[in-house]
Amino acid sequence: MTLQARHVLEFPGGYTRTTGPVIGRFLTELRDGRVVGVRTAGGRTLVPPLEYDPDTGDAVTGEFVEVGPAGTVESWSWVHTPRKGHPLDRPFAWAMIRLDGADTALVHAVDAGDVKAMRPGLRVRPRWRAERTGQITDIESFVPEITKIVSPVRGEYVLKPGLALSRFLEGVAEGVFIGCRCGSCHKVYVPHRLSCPECGVTITEEVELPDTGTITTFAINNLPDPRAPEVPFVSAYILLDGSDVPMIALVGGVPAHEVRQGMRVRAVWIPEGEWTPSMDNIKWFAPTGEPDAEL
Ligand SMILES: [Zn+2]
Repeated sequence: MTLQARHVLEFPGGYTRTTGPVIGRFLTELRDGRVVGVRTAGGRTLVPPLEYDPDTGDAVTGEFVEVGPAGTVESWSWVHTPRKGHPLDRPFAWAMIRLDGADTALVHAVDAGDVKAMRPGLRVRPRWRAERTGQITDIESFVPEITKIVSPVRGEYVLKPGLALSRFLEGVAEGVFIGCRCGSCHKVYVPHRLSCPECGVTITEEVELPDTGTITTFAINNLPDPRAPEVPFVSAYILLDGSDVPMIALVGGVPAHEVRQGMRVRAVWIPEGEWTPSMDNIKWFAPTGEPDAEL
């Protein structure tokens, strides 16, 4: 049998101790809603203040300076399950916080809501109790500074396509791609344009292009887009047959990882009754099943 005896050390009514002038000043300022540090002979500001400089052992100067109240988290430890006697009844962090103007860090609770909100460098401010009595718990906890808000955003605008693009979109409204051929270098451009970017000459010859082409380059996108079939989806440069410059479009009807350079594709149109002068007429380009083209 193991002998044991249970002892309780308790001072009913509490254990009274004197604070001394330095800690006393710190607690008195807390009661008044301020945080002060004390200066050392070497010019450092200790928060919380100490009676002796920990670096030299010399007495501090007795000069008090107000710091913070905001500060920066230097390191922290997350408390998943708060215990009786902890400052908060929900998960929180114990953190080393260096208040602005201080050279040392103070330990206090940070009510960050979520462990993901904690990081070194996090800016925090004290949340003071309404009733203060001159104790470190006069600061209930620190809370992160407001660094972002979510505002509703909506823009509405009218886009005028200009002559060349208007001509192209008129074609799209009838299910054809209208391009043009430069009379000087004979390059075929799509969408339709009014001058050659290489020669600078005015282009007058219109060309109708088929809705088949070849993928020249592509990108797999992992962020959702309202026009895209699913995530991941592919956007590609597609060289329409008979054209010399590729145009950008979505690729669908094929898993993203099967898309490749040289793949033959055809435009997938929405039902003809729904056509408007808009690229919305083309859902995307889908593989034709033909052998890959040489690029
Ligand atoms: Zn040209």
